[in-house]
Amino acid sequence: MGRTLVDLVLTGGRVIDPESGFDEVADVGIAGDRVVSVSTAPLECSNRIDVSGLVVCPGFIDLHSHGQAIPEQRLQALDGVTTALELEAGTTTVAAAYAHAASQGRPLNYGYATSWALARMIELIGATPAPNLQAILKHLGNPAWQVPASVKQRARIFQRLYQDLADGALGIGILVGYAPQVDPDEFVMVAGLAAQAGVPTYTHARPLIEVDPGVPVDGASEIIRAAGETGAHMHYCHVNSTSARRIEKVRTLLDKAQAEGAPVSVEAYPYGAGSTAIGAAFLAPEALKRSDLKPSDIVVVATGERIADEKRLLELRAADPGALVMVYFLDETNPVDHKHLERALTYPGGAIASDAVPLTWPGQPPPPMTWPLPPGTLVHPRSAGTFAKVLRTLWRESGLLSLPEAIARCSLIPAQILEKAVPAMCRKGRLTAGSDADVLVFDPVRIADQATYVDGVRPSVGVVHLLVNGSFVVRDSSLVLDSLPGRPVRASMSLSANAE
Ligand SMILES: [Zn+2]
Repeated sequence: MGRTLVDLVLTGGRVIDPESGFDEVADVGIAGDRVVSVSTAPLECSNRIDVSGLVVCPGFIDLHSHGQAIPEQRLQALDGVTTALELEAGTTTVAAAYAHAASQGRPLNYGYATSWALARMIELIGATPAPNLQAILKHLGNPAWQVPASVKQRARIFQRLYQDLADGALGIGILVGYAPQVDPDEFVMVAGLAAQAGVPTYTHARPLIEVDPGVPVDGASEIIRAAGETGAHMHYCHVNSTSARRIEKVRTLLDKAQAEGAPVSVEAYPYGAGSTAIGAAFLAPEALKRSDLKPSDIVVVATGERIADEKRLLELRAADPGALVMVYFLDETNPVDHKHLERALTYPGGAIASDAVPLTWPGQPPPPMTWPLPPGTLVHPRSAGTFAKVLRTLWRESGLLSLPEAIARCSLIPAQILEKAVPAMCRKGRLTAGSDADVLVFDPVRIADQATYVDGVRPSVGVVHLLVNGSFVVRDSSLVLDSLPGRPVRASMSLSANAE
């Protein structure tokens, strides 16, 4: 029997594989872009890295990352992420997005859902397709993309979604929370298309009916019902922010759906504030009041301005509706609110996903490979700190999750959410012979987020090594600046008939 050739051995670390439950001091052998051996007996190789005292686990998979350019991905690499996917907003065309990422190169693996919202914006207000979130943000608050579509318009919207799915989109992102009056039948039709194509949908929910009695359907019930009616896998995005203080109601609905076997999954991020475009429907003065929020709960990212009153809010919404703001929907320092956040983060089987947003630059964007980031670069801290904050707060400080469980929520569970549609995800989120060599090595004593609401781009500490497809992106706690080993993650659509 020939011995497997190994290029690199990580020796002496605490190796955790969340799927098998393996949790022992072991050697990890890597050849090319794969893990070839995990062994409690020492593996032979001239290229050995001593990782004793450190944890070795599958790299984290972020299902909700709008920060798709190189600088944003580098912040996520330092937070333990090896695969960062844009699923909730999505994009169109996905072919252009994959081509754009491939032409520049990416440190992390990348992938996209198609975008129901942008498809609607293109059809109804003539928006220009572009492979970045700005294409969506600048129209997000425009009511004209949210109006009822004619039969012909609807057919063209669906044709676009269908084409993106045929081109490998990872599912359909549905920003229905930004178009809360849209016909619920259209939502079910989008879910139906996803079911036919064998891919998930990723929904930013409409408001809950208690928050806004004017919505045509309750935001949580709609997602769960669509799973039951169409059989589509419905992924419920950032259940923390859209549920806020009503998380128990949403948990109860989810419990019922899961008991009935409905294909619904959830994700959450560990912050009491969100970040979105100031023009969003749910930030209109009347909508804010219904959510028990005030204009002063909103801060403009670029200027740091805390919005004084309704008049100022209306001015800013009119002047630059796509401008990013932070919205303090829960007060993390208040023990009751803190508990709501914990309940969102610990829902059984839930994934951690960051909702990372693009950076706001102090001037013109610098060339993509610029590092360190220019002083004055701003962003919501979730973009840099989500995963380290989960390890720090939910595992190390509170013991609310065991270490293997915390790691599973960041790696195995997101992989499982995708793997029916994307069989290649069966090799990610695990650390065993045959897994992709997307490997995180971190210091369990030091791992911590550093990003704050004031300084959102401070990278996390404690990520010692990070390998993507067998190449170091972080080595000895520093970014490897010329390393762009990220590869596209694509679905192969199971649908062969024409979309009509
Ligand atoms: Zn969202």
